[in-house]
Amino acid sequence: MDKIVSLCRRRGFVFPSSEIYGGLGSSYDYGHYGVLLKENVKARWLEAMVRERDDIVALDSSIILHPQVWEASGHVGGFTDPLVDCRHCKRRYRADQLDASQCGQRPSKKPGETSDCDLTEPRQFNLMFETRVGPVEETGTKVFLRPETAQGIFINFKNVAQLARRKPPFGIAQIGKSFRNEITPGNFIFRTLEFEQMEMEFFVPPASASEWYRTWIDERLAWHTRYGLRESHVRVRAHESDELSHYSSETSDIEYLFPIGWSELEGIANRGAFDLTAHTAASGTKLEWVDSASGERYTPHVIEPALGVNRSMLAFICDAYHEEVVGDRERTVLRLHPRLSPVSAAVLPLVPRDATMSEKARALYEELRQVASVEYDDSGQIGRRYRRQDEIGTPFAYTIDEQTLVDETVTVRDRDTLAQERLPIGGVRSHLLEALARPWQRVP
Ligand code: ATP
Repeated sequence: MDKIVSLCRRRGFVFPSSEIYGGLGSSYDYGHYGVLLKENVKARWLEAMVRERDDIVALDSSIILHPQVWEASGHVGGFTDPLVDCRHCKRRYRADQLDASQCGQRPSKKPGETSDCDLTEPRQFNLMFETRVGPVEETGTKVFLRPETAQGIFINFKNVAQLARRKPPFGIAQIGKSFRNEITPGNFIFRTLEFEQMEMEFFVPPASASEWYRTWIDERLAWHTRYGLRESHVRVRAHESDELSHYSSETSDIEYLFPIGWSELEGIANRGAFDLTAHTAASGTKLEWVDSASGERYTPHVIEPALGVNRSMLAFICDAYHEEVVGDRERTVLRLHPRLSPVSAAVLPLVPRDATMSEKARALYEELRQVASVEYDDSGQIGRRYRRQDEIGTPFAYTIDEQTLVDETVTVRDRDTLAQERLPIGGVRSHLLEALARPWQRVP
């Protein structure tokens, strides 16, 4: 993980938040390449959910919802983690994760393992951040920053079903920020106080819920591997009955082999009719499906795949991170799927002070930037420029050199194989677009 953190910092993907004030635990800011990568992760998810299907529509609901939403959903009463304190080292731990935690005084031991450890009994700690609406703190209404995006979908079920003219099975997909007052410091961006979620609630006739639950596990697994995670680094783990949330009859985690070990990447839950029933009871608005032709009515069951954008980005970076020795030099390369890479192509004039070379490179850059995320780089030795692009995961570099001035061809360098070939300069745009559209094969 240290190497990943260091690369992310060095290349400006992610850095600690509020750094000039000493930082704030479990909070990170995203720099230029981090933003571009994160946006690509979201775009690929939305594409797979909405653009490539006919049965899912998009939604963007508010972060601050009516406080009764969180009463009805069970979050006010039950969105808690069990917390223990060590009276000796003053550290705080999640009672259900002691095995994966380090003692505050002897990191080689787990909390509770040394004779000095003095742990309290577990207490339940609510993870929702509270704030107030209104100008006067004392009289304002207490509200919560949403800890998940899902509830904004459930309370809009009636609106969306009518306006989008959909009947079950159909889904509503949403991407947005969520907030959790996590009590244990996370591993880099794996667990943070604020993060983005990509959640989709799929409403189905009750009898088909289990079948759709299995379908969505397969669909989501396929998405992670389609965009580059190695099959050997992902697995599905079904929750034991004592792990299931109050709302769920079956849940599986897609786990990824992070540097910290196998951990949850995405959760897929069969939430049954819990949410629509709870909001119907609390709001008095019937959230059910009524077939206008046959008069049939029922409360749909819900299958939910829920993935963190930041955690997904971390998994893609971990899987792409690769070090190798080429000739006598070490090279670090992010072998990201080309459709995730922050920059799709670099345009490099070999000799920047050569005016004709620069002019041609600039013209190619202007052409390519209209269709892709492209960077123009003319500073430093060509080898250093290649290495910079390797570290941010740019799949293609097009170099304008002396030969270009003779025959209008450029060199294309492949990030992964390091193969170089010559292309007519007029064919670069279609070379890039075709390469981005092709299914991607990682080099072994
Ligand atoms: P965990 O057990 O890791 O706390 P969870 O089971 O509470 O996660 P869900 O409520 O199922 O998580 O949220 C769905 C997804 O949102 C998770 O699989 C993860 O990708 C992401 N996620 C949840 N909490 C965080 C967080 N604090 N920081 C970053 N991502 C998160």
